[in-house]
Amino acid sequence: MRMIHFDAVSKLYANTTAWALHPTTFTIEAGELMVLLGESGSGKTTLLKMVNRLVQPSSGAVRVFERDVREQDPISLRRGMGYVIQNVGLFPHFNVADNVAVVPRLLKWPESQVRERVDELLERVGLSAAEYRARAPHQLSGGQRQRVGIARALAARPKILLLDEPFGALDALTRANLQLELRRLHEALGLTTLLVTHDLAEALTLADRIAVLRSGELRQLGTPAQLLHAPADAYVAELIQSVVAQAARVSELARRASS
Ligand code: ADP
Ligand code: MG
Repeated sequence: MRMIHFDAVSKLYANTTAWALHPTTFTIEAGELMVLLGESGSGKTTLLKMVNRLVQPSSGAVRVFERDVREQDPISLRRGMGYVIQNVGLFPHFNVADNVAVVPRLLKWPESQVRERVDELLERVGLSAAEYRARAPHQLSGGQRQRVGIARALAARPKILLLDEPFGALDALTRANLQLELRRLHEALGLTTLLVTHDLAEALTLADRIAVLRSGELRQLGTPAQLLHAPADAYVAELIQSVVAQAARVSELARRASS
C-alpha cells in the first residue's frame, strides 16, 4: 500500500526566486523506512513538512493514506503521525510524563490509560519510567530528551513517523544507539517512517530506501546497496566515495593498531 505519495510536488516560497523543490514524484510504501538525504538547503524539510501540511506545495499533491492531504482535516492528519525535530521542543515546564501524555490527553483518553501508555512508551525508548517520569526536560541529557521526543511522537499510536534531523545534535555513541533503537521501534510497531538527515552514514545504516536531494532536485531514489553500487550521477558518486574512503581509513587504522 502507498502510505505517502508525492505527486509532482514543487515549492517556491513567497518572496523568493529559486525553487526550494522542483517537481518531485515518489512513493513511500507502508512499513518502509525512507531517508531523505541532502545537504543543508536541499529541500528536505520542505518535502517532509508537506506530509503534515506545515508546507503547502506550489504545485502537485501529497497523498497520505491514499487521500489528498488537502481533503483531510490538518489536526486529525497530524495526530495520525508522530513528528520529531532536532531540538525536540519538549515543553520545559512539563515533566517527562506530561510531555509524553500531551496528545493522549488532547484525545481525552482516560487518565489511567494515559499513565499506562506513558510508562510503556518510556520503557520502549529505553528510559526507566520509575526513574524518569517525574523529571523536568532540563534534567535530561540531549539523548534522553530525544528519547522522550520519540516517545511523545508515538503516544497516540500513529502509523507514520516523521523525523527531521532527530539525532543531529547528539554525540556519536548516543547517536548510534538511538539509530539502532529507532530501527527496532520502526519494525516492532510496523511504522512507516520518513527521516531527514544530511548524514550519509546514518542514511545507509537506517534506510530501506534513500531519496537523495540536491538543490531541490531528487537525484536518486534507491536502496543503500543501489546507491553504493550504482550511483545515479557524479554528485551521488562523490557523496558515496567520501564515506567509503572514510570507512576505509578507519579500517586501515584499526588493522594497523591490532597488528
Ligand atoms: P533542508 O531541510 O534540506 O536544509 P529546506 O527545505 O529547509 O532545506 O529549504 C530549502 C530551500 O528553501 C532553502 O533554500 C531555504 O532557504 C528555502 N526556504 C525554506 N523555508 C523557507 C521559507 N519559509 N521562506 C523562504 N524560503 C524558505
Ligand atoms: Mg531542514
